[in-house]
Amino acid sequence: MRQYLRHHGIGGIGIVRMSGEKCFEILDKIFVPKKKQSIDEIRGYSIKYGNIVENGEIIDEVLVSYFKAPKSYTTENMCEINSHGGNIVVKKILEVCLKNGADLAEPGEFTKRAFLNGRIDLLQAESVVDVIHAKSEKEAKTAMKQLEGALSKKIAEIKQEIMEVMVSIEVAIDYPEYDVDDVTINQILDMLEHVEKKLIQLEKSFDNGKIIKEGIKTAIIGRPNAGKSSLLNAILREERAIVTEYEGTTRDTIEEFITIEGIPFKVIDTAGIRESKDEVEKIGIEKSKQIANLADLIIIIIDASKDLEAEDLEILELAKNKKTIIVLNKMDLKAKIDENNLKLKEISDCIVKISALNQIGIDELYKAITRLFHLNEINLDNAVVITNVRQKNFVNQAIKDVKKTKDTIEKQMPLDIVAIFIKNILEDLGNITGEFVTENIIDEIFSKFCLGK
Ligand code: GDP
Repeated sequence: MRQYLRHHGIGGIGIVRMSGEKCFEILDKIFVPKKKQSIDEIRGYSIKYGNIVENGEIIDEVLVSYFKAPKSYTTENMCEINSHGGNIVVKKILEVCLKNGADLAEPGEFTKRAFLNGRIDLLQAESVVDVIHAKSEKEAKTAMKQLEGALSKKIAEIKQEIMEVMVSIEVAIDYPEYDVDDVTINQILDMLEHVEKKLIQLEKSFDNGKIIKEGIKTAIIGRPNAGKSSLLNAILREERAIVTEYEGTTRDTIEEFITIEGIPFKVIDTAGIRESKDEVEKIGIEKSKQIANLADLIIIIIDASKDLEAEDLEILELAKNKKTIIVLNKMDLKAKIDENNLKLKEISDCIVKISALNQIGIDELYKAITRLFHLNEINLDNAVVITNVRQKNFVNQAIKDVKKTKDTIEKQMPLDIVAIFIKNILEDLGNITGEFVTENIIDEIFSKFCLGK
């Protein structure tokens, strides 16, 4: 049995975690508690004070938490050594553990153990990453629900229904002398229909899940001086308390997240918009086009104190068939355009008047966004959502297999053939929760984890 251990971050406290059959044995060699007790005397979930010692020399004074199998994160014996923070001490403790027989953990090793030992399923394991990386309250809440097993329960429910179908079919196969009557066939079809509905609902939930997880990519476009940066600043000023700035990982821009109704909005390429304020170079149509293509939501900002210009029309054209809000800006000045303008109405009936400079109408803009995305309908208290493509693909596959099963029944194919299709559905569902996944897939999923989790 390997021991898996990892230290965790730099902070006021450093934690080295060990999991595995021999972790208490290793601990015994390096930890000198203030009050000596044998491991049998120490209860799980208790904390002991003492020193980590190597060759008689104290490395640090620590608190050690004990978790006894099976009541631990991994279900194995586990301990967590809480030391003073800082790289040197933690690294040193880690080294001493390694010297005394532990192995270095891979990213996600602890959660992987929890999964392989059957304490959590794959959906719950995946949600651990989501909890850690949550950017908004709603996202964290959804991830927590998944960690608690809400989605797993839903899948189990569907699986149970399919099992019932399977039983009906198998009974019919086992007793061929009794003809399967139409009532039974209709019942089976009804049950499959019911399952299909539930799966389709789950599939749809992916869109909400995606919104919650990745945020709504928002583009603010408009011709130079329409007020793009002023609008962005007005939004950010309002949201200051909850605005977080993330270094873009793939690009060198700073991406801003704002939260509306608990949903993160990611304003695309705001750095570009900001730069344009100081630079002679303003965002041209080409650039607007690129940004608009990336966006889930387009906010077109128009200087309402001026007549519509050719460039405004070109920009409006970019938003055709996309979720668009038209913002009429500079309403503090004498307006030349209003919401009845036909050219605007052609593109979107969602038109909001604001004054970015005076921060007037920003609330109205939020309300418009909320309506457009039905954000208030994303009720997370009861919602079970699927949050990643892996899950979605298997749900899709399950829907397809339910359809095929219905088809074979309707075509009055032999029941043992129907049974094969039903087994496929069960397999799809098992793939979602990780019952049947291969080692490669498991490795890929856990490689996304951070160290120490
Ligand atoms: P951008 O080029 O689209 O980013 O436009 P800016 O946000 O830089 O604004 C261009 C000019 O319009 C600036 O001088 C702003 O102060 C001004 N401006 C922006 N919003 C308003 C507004 O609501 N009312 C008035 N009167 N001026 C505004």
